[in-house]
Amino acid sequence: MSEKLKPETLCVQAGWQPKKGEPRVLPIYQSTTFKYDTSEQMARLFDLEESGYFYTRLQNPTNDAVAAKIAALEGGVAAMLTSSGQAANFYAIFNICQAGDHFVCSSAIYGGTFNLFAVTMKKLGIEVTFVSPDASEEEIGAVFRPNTKLLFGETVSNPSLEVLDIEKFARIAHKQGVPLVIDNTFPTPINCRPFEWGADIIVHSTTKYMDGHATAVGGCIVDSGNFDWDAYADKFPGLCTPDESYHGLTYTKAFGKGAYITKATAQLMRDLGSIQSPQNAFLLNIGLETLHLRMKQHCANAKAIAEFLEKDERVAWVNYCDLPGNKYYDLAQKYMPNGSCGVISFGLKGGRDTSIKFMDNLNLIAIVTHVADARTCVLHPASHTHRQLSDEQLMEAGVRPDLIRLSVGIENVEDLINDIKQALEA
Ligand SMILES: *Cc1c(COP(=O)(O)O)cnc(C)c1O
Repeated sequence: MSEKLKPETLCVQAGWQPKKGEPRVLPIYQSTTFKYDTSEQMARLFDLEESGYFYTRLQNPTNDAVAAKIAALEGGVAAMLTSSGQAANFYAIFNICQAGDHFVCSSAIYGGTFNLFAVTMKKLGIEVTFVSPDASEEEIGAVFRPNTKLLFGETVSNPSLEVLDIEKFARIAHKQGVPLVIDNTFPTPINCRPFEWGADIIVHSTTKYMDGHATAVGGCIVDSGNFDWDAYADKFPGLCTPDESYHGLTYTKAFGKGAYITKATAQLMRDLGSIQSPQNAFLLNIGLETLHLRMKQHCANAKAIAEFLEKDERVAWVNYCDLPGNKYYDLAQKYMPNGSCGVISFGLKGGRDTSIKFMDNLNLIAIVTHVADARTCVLHPASHTHRQLSDEQLMEAGVRPDLIRLSVGIENVEDLINDIKQALEA
């Protein structure tokens, strides 16, 4: 499909390209296995000498069509679906780093990713250093080591809503000869395309806006094909030296720009699993078909609600990067001129107890542990995700005790504001 097509068209039509007599709608290939006529045909697939389907843990046509759509939306060369956003982040790192390696990461990231990187990756012998995304290029450059293999950040962080200066991060990474990996979950490629600003690899929790209906947990990794692994071959032996588990094949030599995703599929999916089920990929694809429409509505609703909250005297503070005056407003305008996402955080005068009472009085807006789907929802991190922490510890973790995270959906915005108004009054 032509790369010149606009994102709206790619959302609807990219990926599945039926031939004569095939279903117009992407079918669910609910099959673990695929048939061949000769033993020799199948053997060539196992040796990666030919591409084709043989077992769904490695590849499935439904998944591949959806991955191709996301690759087209991000402007990448190849993509793979994973069972969750967590799996996508793990594979994105583990496809580059091995025991003894180190990477650098923005401190403004999702809590699940923080645990994965700081605790679990450490047990695998991979160390991470966190840096403030607002630190200078010199300060961030200074924490790199000879064994540092990549730089990682989130476009808009969940839940702190800090906006990453992608070009700055790309300059730092490339000066050090390592790729920049970006979690682009919150803006989606509709609002930001990090490859255009120098990112090399993009990860998504497709569980959020891409699915958009809170029906299927999933993840995706997209490769820009731009990072020259062979230029730093000594840093990336996994990609640039022979893989004994495939008869000494070298990924960069055999697959060129497809090396990274081919290795992630052929090695990591083969050995670790975590494939997305074709059923979930089908649901994800239906979500993607309306992503462009929904993101517009999420952003418009969130902006209107943020403006309403900012004016209300019962509200102590509002954090939304599309509001003029926000610390990240200029960066948000640069990277996401059409809007960032639908997530806002705010606090009420009266602190923690007032915030809890407010949430209990909401009717339309539900209390759930989710963000970024069609239905508006709220979460109070101090009582839910971070409830074991004292107020002092909360402040240290960057979560104010009164913080309410509001994920604005695509309902009628007046109805949402009326619900907020009545809860404020109660
Ligand atoms: C939710 C989320 C993840 C984890 O994704 P799951 O699909 O829940 O595994 C990773 N990064 C960000 C930014 C997220 O919001």
